[in-house]
Amino acid sequence: MTSASSGPRSPMWRVTTWAKVLLPVGIVILMGLTVWRVVLTEPGAPVHEYAGVTMGTTYAVKVDARLTAKQRKAIADTIEQRLSEVDGLMSTYDTTSELSRFNRHESTDPFIVSSLMLEVFATAREVSERSGGAFDVTVAPLVDAWGFGPPGRVAAAPSETHLSTLRSGVGYEKVQIDREAGTLVKTHPQTVADLSAVAKGYGVDRVSSALADLGIGSFLVEVGGEIKATGMKRDGTPWRVGIERPDTAMRAVYRGVDLIDEAVATSGDYRNFYEHHGVRYAHIIDPRTARPIPYAGASVTVVHASAAMADAWATALSVLGPDEGYDLAEREGVAALFVVRTDSGYSAHATPAFRQGGEPESSVREPV
Ligand code: AMP
Ligand code: MG
Repeated sequence: MTSASSGPRSPMWRVTTWAKVLLPVGIVILMGLTVWRVVLTEPGAPVHEYAGVTMGTTYAVKVDARLTAKQRKAIADTIEQRLSEVDGLMSTYDTTSELSRFNRHESTDPFIVSSLMLEVFATAREVSERSGGAFDVTVAPLVDAWGFGPPGRVAAAPSETHLSTLRSGVGYEKVQIDREAGTLVKTHPQTVADLSAVAKGYGVDRVSSALADLGIGSFLVEVGGEIKATGMKRDGTPWRVGIERPDTAMRAVYRGVDLIDEAVATSGDYRNFYEHHGVRYAHIIDPRTARPIPYAGASVTVVHASAAMADAWATALSVLGPDEGYDLAEREGVAALFVVRTDSGYSAHATPAFRQGGEPESSVREPV
């Protein structure tokens, strides 16, 4: 007895023949997809790291992606190019930088600058206005007079007379920004600027946007402690960075913060300072007094989409301190964490915007 379904030209024959062909193809495709997924998302795959020096400090970049040697080279070149561009324009130590030339331009005639310089001055201006002048890049002569600028440490604190002479050129409103003309205009010929409180963050932003342009999806950029994270890591978790404790004796992490397409910057009186006759002088100048902020063992950490903004705000809020600074940050919707040294450890106070960024409520005034 022959069955219609088992003959060589029966429909079943055609099905089994197709199955014989399709099955191996399907298996190969499935295996290919599995390998592809493992290759792309394998948690143990190396994070590529790049490090070096820039702007008188160090930088570090981590890229979480599988990269070819060619891509790794392109990334290294891009980082170097972007950072040396910012350094070359904004350094006060390099006498040939655009900023140094602007500072030597003792005139109220417009001074043509790069679009990058305009952008940084505009960021600085915004934070100056919103902080009531606590952030002020024109404090440069005061920074030098107190021993924190290119001339180096000073033998004695500057006299009142000297400070009041220097103050004549200080004031953020003494530099006007003309975006259309591409110029900066001094209203006082002796006004000079120091971009140290914002340029590192700006460098972080410049590197981050360049890496995104290269098609990289997950990376962390850090310059002198100012950090920006882009994308999620391949294991699906956000980049986590440590916030330093305001400890003068050692580097220790106070707490961690998760960042997704956000930057974090910390400023304070605990790292860059010197002692003279028992008095501690910190590198942040209060433009209202023309003096370094009084030492309190305090730090301010700001989280912002822009690293330049985070950098500038962290400095501004350090000038104002944990009380006045906290009130301003809260009013302005700035995500800030104030950490202050106490007799029993440290206490922290986070603004609502900082807590909403995924911070546990316990971050409010917690001892270490
Ligand atoms: P940061 O470490 O980002 O807080 O920047 C501190 C540096 O910014 C100092 O070393 C000075 O060069 C400069 N600076 C000091 N005081 C101020 C201020 N009130 N506004 C802007 N820049 C400042
Ligand atoms: Mg800063």
